[in-house]
Amino acid sequence: MTTALPVPTLKAGPAGLTLEGVALADIAERFGTPTYVYSRAALTQAYEAYQRALGLRKSLVCYAVKANSSLGILSVFAKLGAGFDIVSRGELARVLAAGGDAGKVIFSGVGKSADEMRYALESGIGCFNVESAAELDRLNEVAGSMGKRAPIAFRVNPDVNPNTHPYISTGLRSNKFGVAFTEALDLYRKAATLPNIEISGIDCHIGSQLLDPAPMAEAADKILGLVDQLAREGITLDHIDLGGGLGIRYRDEEPPTPTEYLKPLLERFAGRDEALCFEPGRSLVGNAGLLLTRIEYLKPGVEKSFAIIDAAMNDLARPALYDAYHEIVAVAPRAVPATRYEVVGPICESGDFLGHDRDLSVETGDLLAILSAGAYGMTMSSNYNTRPRAAEVLVDGDTVHVIRDRETLEHLLKGERPLP
Ligand SMILES: *Cc1c(COP(=O)(O)O)cnc(C)c1O
Repeated sequence: MTTALPVPTLKAGPAGLTLEGVALADIAERFGTPTYVYSRAALTQAYEAYQRALGLRKSLVCYAVKANSSLGILSVFAKLGAGFDIVSRGELARVLAAGGDAGKVIFSGVGKSADEMRYALESGIGCFNVESAAELDRLNEVAGSMGKRAPIAFRVNPDVNPNTHPYISTGLRSNKFGVAFTEALDLYRKAATLPNIEISGIDCHIGSQLLDPAPMAEAADKILGLVDQLAREGITLDHIDLGGGLGIRYRDEEPPTPTEYLKPLLERFAGRDEALCFEPGRSLVGNAGLLLTRIEYLKPGVEKSFAIIDAAMNDLARPALYDAYHEIVAVAPRAVPATRYEVVGPICESGDFLGHDRDLSVETGDLLAILSAGAYGMTMSSNYNTRPRAAEVLVDGDTVHVIRDRETLEHLLKGERPLP
C-alpha cells in the first residue's frame, strides 16, 4: 500500500526521494547529516491556503515564530507579506533580521519582561497580547516612561476543550495562559482608563494540533459575545485574533484544510468591521520540512532490532517529549524485504527514539527521511550530549540555500571556561 507522503513536495523517483527539484541524496552528499531540509514551495502553498481561505476579508496571518524561527524560514513568510506572532525579544530580533514588518508583529506570552516591552515598543510592534492584570500595569508604566501608548489585546481564555494532547492544550481554565473569561470585561474597563494603553483587539488561542473545527467555533462564539458586550460599553476593537492551532497530518490524521477550518469562523464574522487575525505555526511549516539522517549501525537484537541513526532526540525532541509519531522513510529503499526496527539516536537515554516498530528496507549507511519535522523540530533542539545542532537547508526549485550552518564544537564551547 502506498499512501501519499505528508510532505507535499516530496516525491519518490529513480534517484530516491526528491524534494522539489533536488535529490535528498545530493543534499546529504553536499551538506552531511543530520540536516533539516525545507521546501519553499511547500511553505508558500501552506501560507497561500490561508490567504485563499480568507479571501477578501480584512485579515492578517501572523506566523507563530516559535514553530520554526530560522531566518531563512521567516524571510519566506516576510516576502509573502505575513505578520508574525512572537513570544520573546529574541524572536522579535529574528523577525526584524529576516525583513519582517514590525507593525504586523503580535507579542504573546505570559512572562514579558520590562526590557522586552521596551524593545517591542521601540520597534513599533502591532499589538501586545496581554495575559494578566499585572502585565497590563507594567506595560502601562513602561510605555509611559517612553512617552508612548502600547496597543493591546487581552488573551482571553474561552475555557473550551480542544481535544488535543494535554501538554499542548492551552485554552482551559486550568492552564497558565490568558485571562479568565469572567475577568476579561473588568480588565478591558480598567485598560480603558490607563493613559499609556490603547485597546486594539482581543485574542484567544486554545491549543495545538487541532483536528476538529468545532472547539474553535465554540471559542469564537464566546469571544464574539464579549466583543459585543464591550461595544455596548463603548469599547470598540479593530481586530479579533483567533490564535493558531490547526493540526497537520503526521500519520493518518485528516486535519481540515484552512478553508474547512475557517469556514465556520468566517460565517460568524461575516459583515463585521474588525480585522480577523490568526497565529498559525505548525500548519504553515510542519509538513514543509524533514530531517535527513544516515544509519550508523543496524543492530539485530533478541526482542527488537535497532536502526541507530546520526540524528537524535536533541535534534528532534517531539517523539521523546510527546511520544509524537513522525513518518520515517528510506531515501532509496533496497530491494530486500523490510525488517522491523526501533529507530534510535546515539544519545545515552532510553527515551532517545525517533520511531518505534518501523518496517524499513535498508542497509547500514543508508539515508532516512524523518517527515513532518518542519515545526517544533529545530526550535526545540538542544546540545544535549554536546552534540552540535544540525544544518538547515531550504530547497527552492533546483536550488539549495544553506540557511543555517551545522554547528561546530567552537560554537558549543563559546563563552565557557574551566576554573583557572
Ligand atoms: C504556539 C502558539 C501558536 C501556534 O500554534 P500552532 O499549533 O503551531 O499553530 C499561536 N499562538 C500562540 C499564542 C501560541 O502559543
